[in-house]
Amino acid sequence: MTKAQEVEKLRHLKKLGDIAYGCIACGDCRTAVRYTVGRYKVCPVLEQTPGFEPFFARGKMQIIRGLLEGKLQPSQELANAVYQCTTCGDCHATCHQSMDPNINLNISRYLDHTKIYEALRADLVDAGFGPMPRQSEVLEWCEKEHNPYMEPHEKRTAWIPEGVELSSKGDLVLFMGCTEPYRQPELIQKTIKLLLSAGVTPAVIHPEEYCCGSVALRTGARDLAEELALHNIQSLQESGAKEVMVHCAGCYRTFKKDYPEIYGKELPFKVVHVTEILERLLKEGKLSLKDDFRGKKLTYHDPCHLGRHCDFFDPPREIIKMVPGVDFVEMRRNRAAAWCCGAGGGVKSGFPELAAKIAGVRVEDAKEVGADYIVTVCPFCENNLCTTAEKEGISVLDVVDLFKI
Ligand code: SF4
Ligand code: SF4
Repeated sequence: MTKAQEVEKLRHLKKLGDIAYGCIACGDCRTAVRYTVGRYKVCPVLEQTPGFEPFFARGKMQIIRGLLEGKLQPSQELANAVYQCTTCGDCHATCHQSMDPNINLNISRYLDHTKIYEALRADLVDAGFGPMPRQSEVLEWCEKEHNPYMEPHEKRTAWIPEGVELSSKGDLVLFMGCTEPYRQPELIQKTIKLLLSAGVTPAVIHPEEYCCGSVALRTGARDLAEELALHNIQSLQESGAKEVMVHCAGCYRTFKKDYPEIYGKELPFKVVHVTEILERLLKEGKLSLKDDFRGKKLTYHDPCHLGRHCDFFDPPREIIKMVPGVDFVEMRRNRAAAWCCGAGGGVKSGFPELAAKIAGVRVEDAKEVGADYIVTVCPFCENNLCTTAEKEGISVLDVVDLFKI
């Protein structure tokens, strides 16, 4: 993964044309505070660094222009800065949200910040400076065993409870993802038990299911990501899937936003989040919620890949609000202005200390509103937030944990 490839220099950035010139260097993405839209600061990485330009959006755009104009050359130093970004997209949300119409020129509306950063990383991979060493190991496992956890591929379905038979063909397929089967099997077990108890039996495609490719896309391993995506799309199509259900926020964004682009057309199936199905089953009376949270304060953490990147905000909140006796509180930064958990964009594997510091800030947000529980719907966020949260006496749960089994 670190070997420079014989390909056109900066091929990924060049494909995006002169888009980076849309940045007018206004600096709103540095530390904007906009009370009217609940925004309090922008970049989770910048807030953990001395504040130099490469660590937030404006500097990254300058770097890209420098590379395209030949004034800068790819280097390890540059890569080390560029990979310290969770691809949370908060700079994107801020850039498009200026309160001054004269500052926010029309062209900046066409800037897709994370797409540009991912193209930059892909070019750094071509040049032999990316990804980060630990990320390279993870990607090698994605290639060999089709998951980033260095686990044998055949164990992807080891979580299936005894006595449960799941077909490999059907209209509704549960895309398992990697984090739950290999790291949080109890979560996917709960999900399947809930679905079965409500009369919904999804199929799972095994051994055909591979990692969705999110980790490869975010860290610049574009060629591998495309292979994984095309493999999964074809396998799902062959399984007869009309609807594909995912849980992990990374999988959701990858399926919703990246797969159609890689496939070059609309996907041959619909993609839904597991909470959409659970909310429907709850409203139909086929599922019920636990009675253990009376008088407790629950808040919801929006995973960046689900919320800001895909505008998916409501089903998890609707479910939490229906839990008997709970006091649902929003954190100061929520929905499109939510603070990142710190794990995304390869930061958890490449820069674990940075990921932990950012998680600490998000836990402070929950503490500020007196939350007893942080509820989320991304196994990756849950995993990153829980260590710090537990020290503060706050438990981190998935929405699935709120249901009675
Ligand atoms: S807010 Fe947008 S236009 Fe302004 S410096 Fe940041 S990326 Fe550039
Ligand atoms: S995507 Fe997030 S971490 Fe990366 S530069 Fe933008 S705000 Fe900072």
